[in-house]
Amino acid sequence: MSKVLIVGAGHAGGTAAALLRQYGFEGEIVLTGTEPSAPYQRPPLSKAWLKGEAGEEELLLRPESFYAEQAIDLRRGATAVHIDRAAKTVAFADGKTLDYDWLILAQGAEARRLEGPGWDDQRVLVLRDMADAEALKAALAPGRRLVVVGAGYVGLEAAASARSLGAQAVVLEREGRALSRVASDVVGDFLAAYHHKRGVEVRPGTDVRGVQATAEGAAVLGGGAAVFPGDAVLVGVGARPVTGLAEAAGLTCRDGVLVDDQARTDDPAVFAIGDMTCRPVPVLDLADVRLESVPSALEQARQAASAICGRSPPPPEVPWFWSDQYDLKIQIAGLPAGADARVVRGDVDADRPGGFAVFHLKGDRIVCVEAVNAPAEFMGGRLLIQKGQAVDPARLADPSVPMKAVATGQATATAS
Ligand SMILES: Cc1cc2nc3c(=O)[nH]c(=O)nc-3n(C[C@H](O)[C@H](O)[C@H](O)COP(=O)(O)OP(=O)(O)OC[C@H]3O[C@@H](n4cnc5c(N)ncnc54)[C@H](O)[C@@H]3O)c2cc1C
Repeated sequence: MSKVLIVGAGHAGGTAAALLRQYGFEGEIVLTGTEPSAPYQRPPLSKAWLKGEAGEEELLLRPESFYAEQAIDLRRGATAVHIDRAAKTVAFADGKTLDYDWLILAQGAEARRLEGPGWDDQRVLVLRDMADAEALKAALAPGRRLVVVGAGYVGLEAAASARSLGAQAVVLEREGRALSRVASDVVGDFLAAYHHKRGVEVRPGTDVRGVQATAEGAAVLGGGAAVFPGDAVLVGVGARPVTGLAEAAGLTCRDGVLVDDQARTDDPAVFAIGDMTCRPVPVLDLADVRLESVPSALEQARQAASAICGRSPPPPEVPWFWSDQYDLKIQIAGLPAGADARVVRGDVDADRPGGFAVFHLKGDRIVCVEAVNAPAEFMGGRLLIQKGQAVDPARLADPSVPMKAVATGQATATAS
């Protein structure tokens, strides 16, 4: 009987285990993870769960009973420490060794931390797992002050959640604007203004120097004489892929473990999936991309499970991502790499967020859509990216032309 060993019981690993059974795999499945809980979703840790709108049960990917029912051997608190690819075994921190026919690496990413004076203060937090989220939640209450370092999605979401819990928040960003690595200036500036109206100051161009313990908490030292006092500090400066084991095992790594469009590493018995991978995005003709998103983790879990079960490969998907802040739903599909033009559709107005979308075009094709409270633009844009269909930028910019009618050549009158 063949055996699949999965290292990492997060969103990708937990999904791969379930899909193997769903696709009819009858061999042994061992799902190992460092954390004490069954696989859970991370997105709510900065959103609904942090605000107290979702409980722990709702975080779980599947009910606790699922794993035993499906004969999936879930081993919690099991940290892999060494891979022997020749012997097809993995050694664990508790001294046990497990063998495999197929190995799926699903170790995710880890939060980047800052080093230097004061950053090891216990009031300096990161947000990656349940334990981090518990610590952050405990620090947020009416009147408490949170200093967020980094205006990325996690930092902005945590600031928005802090406000809904009655806490104060300030967001310090080294770059010239919010979301500088992951969104257009249109969306980044809109969100900064939206936060400002809700009492969160986003301060771009603030290069933090360190943290100083104070009588009431911890103060972040900005450039010059600027000091930002807080009860807690959240460092949200991105994550790095967990590639130590894979590198030591001789698997090719760049920014993540290098995989093909079926999640295979350069060892045919080893797959890698989720945040730890550096992957191709065939729909956009891109190689070596690292995506940190649930849809990417799910897509690669499907790829690995399909390959192991001898099913035909799933069709390539358009990468996408979402973020919730206040009453805003931000949805992004595609990637702006190589875009040469952009089209804004709808009103970008932080006072009246009726919804808008920013489309990034390469020639006459959409390669990315960033939609803010604009689900039709998101869905339509994603479909047009998938099809690689040409669009007329003038029609795309005109909100009176329905999304279904913006593809070149399609008459507005035929649109539904
Ligand atoms: C606060 C937050 C908010 C997010 N919001 C969104 C969002 O809105 N939308 C979105 O699409 N994505 C979001 N993401 C990203 C999304 O959660 C990740 O893309 C997804 O969790 C990736 O799944 P994964 O299985 O690759 O990694 P993870 O879910 O991180 O799981 C990896 C697991 O592997 C374990 N592990 C690591 N090393 C070992 C080892 N040696 N042995 C055993 N186990 C090991 C880890 O402990 C962890 O449990 C968010 C992430 C965070 C942290």
